[in-house]
Amino acid sequence: MLRIGLTGGIGSGKSLVCDLFARRGVPVIDSDAIAREIVTPGSEIAEAVIREFGETYRDVTTGGLDRKALRRLVFGNIRARHRLEAILHPRIRLELSRRQIGLDAPYCILSIPLLIESGFGDLVDRILVVDCPESLQVQRVMSRDGVTQEEAQAILASQASREQRLAQADDVIDNTGPPGDLEDKVERLHRQYLVWGRTTHRKDPAPDLPES
Ligand code: ADP
Repeated sequence: MLRIGLTGGIGSGKSLVCDLFARRGVPVIDSDAIAREIVTPGSEIAEAVIREFGETYRDVTTGGLDRKALRRLVFGNIRARHRLEAILHPRIRLELSRRQIGLDAPYCILSIPLLIESGFGDLVDRILVVDCPESLQVQRVMSRDGVTQEEAQAILASQASREQRLAQADDVIDNTGPPGDLEDKVERLHRQYLVWGRTTHRKDPAPDLPES
C-alpha cells in the first residue's frame, strides 16, 4: 500500500486535513493517538517510562503516567526527550506498521506530526506537508489551546522550522486561506494518490512464456 506521511507544525491544520482524507474513506493512522494508547495506565510502556524517570512521574489518581509532568520535563530538555523517545519510538514505529496490516485501500495516511524531527521518514513513501505561515500557526494555537503568544511561539521553536519541513516535502497543502479551500486541495491529491496507489498495487499478469 502506498503510504503517505502527513505532517506539519502545530496549528498548521493537520487534523482538519486528516478529517478530509478520512471522509473520503482513506484509512488514517495517527501516531499521536498511538502515543497516547501505548501509555495507558498499567501498560508495559507506561511502566518502563516510570522506571526510567522515577515514581514522581506516576499520576497518583490513575496509577499511570503523569503525562503533563513528563511533557514539562522534556520540553526544552533534549537529553530527557531522547531518553523518553528511546522508549516510545520503537513501539510507535511498530504500531504504525502493524495497523496497516489487513487494510484494503490503494493508499493510507500516516499522520505523524513530528515526522521530520523523529526520523520516521523511512516508514512512508511520500511526505505531505500541511503548511501555513508561522504567524498563522501561532494565532491558531492561541485560540485553539488558550495559550499565550509566547507559549505558542516556544512550542513552534521546539519543532522543525517551516523551511526544514518544506525541504522534505513531496507534496504540500497550503492552509493559509479559509478552511473551505482545503476541500479542493485534498480532493486533487486524493485522486492522484488513488492512481499512484493502484498502480503500485497492480498485479501484472504473468508474462506469456515462449513455447519451447
Ligand atoms: P494541527 O492538527 O496541525 O495542530 P488543527 O487542524 O487542529 O492543527 O488546526 C489548528 C486550529 O486552527 C484549529 O482550531 C482549527 O480549527 C483551526 N484552523 C485550521 N485551519 C484553519 C484555516 N484554514 N482557517 C482558520 N482556522 C483554521
